[in-house]
Amino acid sequence: LVRIKGLHKHFGDNEVLRGIDLDIAEGEVVCLIGPSGSGKSTLLRCVNLLETPTEGTVTAAGHDMTGPDADLDAARRDIGMVFQHFNLFSHLSILDNVAIAQRRVLKTPRAEAEAEARRLLAEVGIEGKERAKPAQLSGGQQQRVAIARALAMGPKLMLFDEPTSALDPELVGEVLSVMKGLAAEGMTMLVVTHEMSFAREVADRVIFLDGGVIVESGPPAEVLTAPKTERARGFLHRVL
Ligand code: ATP
Ligand code: MG
Repeated sequence: LVRIKGLHKHFGDNEVLRGIDLDIAEGEVVCLIGPSGSGKSTLLRCVNLLETPTEGTVTAAGHDMTGPDADLDAARRDIGMVFQHFNLFSHLSILDNVAIAQRRVLKTPRAEAEAEARRLLAEVGIEGKERAKPAQLSGGQQQRVAIARALAMGPKLMLFDEPTSALDPELVGEVLSVMKGLAAEGMTMLVVTHEMSFAREVADRVIFLDGGVIVESGPPAEVLTAPKTERARGFLHRVL
């Protein structure tokens, strides 16, 4: 569902990604770990072309993202993204946050979009808050709304960039459990995370990125438990 070949990304003289090759199969959950500044967010953002690769090709969810005829709007409907900071529309109700894109982008009739939004909110465990504004919800609730909003476009692929890093510790579990549910339903997911227990439990594959290259890639039992490289061992020692 994702194919990345020879991906390089420079910011000026700073070469942040130095030749990434990565395939993700349909239904696969891949967790991306690595030190701060290793290029995790940049790699994720190159998948939906929020960043333009300097070199290399990306296809994702059936779209040739780096091709000359790439339809990025269509592609981004098929690729949901959830950020560390939820970026909900603060002036809109919870229901409208989830329904708005269906109405505006997909031109779904209001009643239908709202019914679907209610269903998605129930799926992420948010009920009875439809009329509230984002600021009236906890961080964990807001992040679950952000996930529902991303799901409203019916994505084939979900990208998560440290979705629980901004949350109080006691709120992390409720967001991870929604993500676990999504994974169990077969959603293809690429997840940047520092939650090693989530990676161990849910990931089909863990990728350790360091200095803009993939240093290790394999099942969690290999990469997290018996890393082959000193760099991965050192990193895991610091975070575990
Ligand atoms: P963290 O764990 O702190 O989120 P990361 O692995 O996600 O780190 P990136 O955000 O991908 O790292 O950043 C990798 C490098 O690219 C850093 O040196 C950063 O300063 C640089 N960088 C990222 N975005 C930009 C940008 N828009 N312009 C210039 N440099 C950037
Ligand atoms: Mg980052």
